[in-house]
Amino acid sequence: MSDAFDFDLFVIGGGSGGVRAARIAAGYGAKVALAEEYRVGGTCVIRGCVPKKLMVYAGRFADEIEDAAGFGWEVGPARFDWRRLKQARDAEVTRLEAIYARNLANAGVEIVHERAVIEDAHTVRLCASNRLIRARIILVAVGAAPSADALIPGAEFIIDSNGVFELETQPKRVLVVGGGYIAVEFAGVFAQLGSRTTLVHRGDKLLRGFDEEVRDALDAAYAQRMDLRLGQTLERVERAGEALRATLSDGTQVEIDCVLAATGRRPNVAGLGLERVGIELDRFGAIPVDAYSQTGVASIYAVGDVTNRAALTPIAIREGHAFADTVFGNKPWCVDHRLIPTAVFSTPEIGVVGHNEDVARRCFDDIDVYRANFRPMKATLSGREERVLMKMLVDTASDRVVGVHVVGHDAGEIIQAVGIAVTMGATKADFDRTIAVHPTAGEELVTMRVPDATKRPVGVG
Ligand SMILES: Cc1cc2nc3c(=O)[nH]c(=O)nc-3n(C[C@H](O)[C@H](O)[C@H](O)COP(=O)(O)OP(=O)(O)OC[C@H]3O[C@@H](n4cnc5c(N)ncnc54)[C@H](O)[C@@H]3O)c2cc1C
Repeated sequence: MSDAFDFDLFVIGGGSGGVRAARIAAGYGAKVALAEEYRVGGTCVIRGCVPKKLMVYAGRFADEIEDAAGFGWEVGPARFDWRRLKQARDAEVTRLEAIYARNLANAGVEIVHERAVIEDAHTVRLCASNRLIRARIILVAVGAAPSADALIPGAEFIIDSNGVFELETQPKRVLVVGGGYIAVEFAGVFAQLGSRTTLVHRGDKLLRGFDEEVRDALDAAYAQRMDLRLGQTLERVERAGEALRATLSDGTQVEIDCVLAATGRRPNVAGLGLERVGIELDRFGAIPVDAYSQTGVASIYAVGDVTNRAALTPIAIREGHAFADTVFGNKPWCVDHRLIPTAVFSTPEIGVVGHNEDVARRCFDDIDVYRANFRPMKATLSGREERVLMKMLVDTASDRVVGVHVVGHDAGEIIQAVGIAVTMGATKADFDRTIAVHPTAGEELVTMRVPDATKRPVGVG
């Protein structure tokens, strides 16, 4: 490192992408500092994937307890204690935060616990201490934050996804606004934990961008579990004694104790100083970068949610890793964003890899659709009204599997394994020659024999 710089790399943001990049770069011998203004670990660990999944687990016990009776169990009245879950969840998050900080320290990364902003192409300013630090490379890994829709009357009563983790008591009645995965997941959690839940979404189906049949399956399941209001918007929230009253666009009013808006997230770029170095944002408010995560300023890179390529933890981690290998390890590579296995931790759970049917039909001349829609084995004795949907899309010309969609128990776990095959370019014939694991739900994926000829939309293909 030349004397002109205090560090080889200064990372702004200690979340999934920043932490990975800092550790890998330090492993190559770079002198690295990382600034974090809140808690090390970032959104995923502190107020995203991890605490949310713990709440999803908590909610699912409700079904397990109920279903146990069908298998001969006599279960007494069960009671859920929100405070105990919060305490345990918060303790786990704190444990993970410490591990992240320790791993950074062990790698030789200097952690600076304050906000940092960009002063020029090689300088960051630490806001609390007003120190200026010079670095050869600056990595912006500041993530994203919940963005509120246009302000409505009573917006001050509305919490966002961060606020869910602060709730000290369980709202008895909750209204969730949004149709994306975060809204869907939290609505599911609240409903399963016993809160009377209303989910309001302005679209005609939940989960825009997902396969239409997956969306239909989720809508049907959610309509059983909660008060699902599609094609509606939230117009107003006001106090109603101890409670709140929400007015929807059709004029109906719902009395609730808590309103959660999960209607989108925006890159955390406000006040970051990007204009000082001439970095202009794209139309989503994200930092534009090339395939190697380099911005228009040669010494400044950006990874993770702030670049809005695919706002998921494994993507941020991989982009951070690729950046560090490329810039500090002399091993250039870039992340392939085309094929991303992903899950939605609703109940029923959703797992997806590859195209949905509409997109597949646009990308390929001809598509075969294989489908299984069945009652899972567990439901035979539990008596629960539930279905599993598995759908496989195959490019007829090459026989390659180009999309797999699963709705049901363990869909996320199933799709992780299927994702390996699809990423490797597996054909339908490869799935067919794979021996089934019996009795499982997943075996349906290797025993789908006949494509569905009836689903081709009129005028397509
Ligand atoms: C409720 C919720 C559930 C989610 N569930 C999943 C899931 O199940 N699976 C999945 O893959 N993804 C999930 N995500 C998305 C995932 O959390 C993000 O994609 C991931 O955390 C992005 O990592 P990042 O490094 O880009 O940013 P972040 O993890 O957000 O880290 C950015 C960090 O930068 C800090 N920071 C910001 N500005 C500054 C500054 N100027 N100076 C210093 N520090 C700063 C922030 O405090 C933050 O800690 C979820 C997100 C939410 C909100």
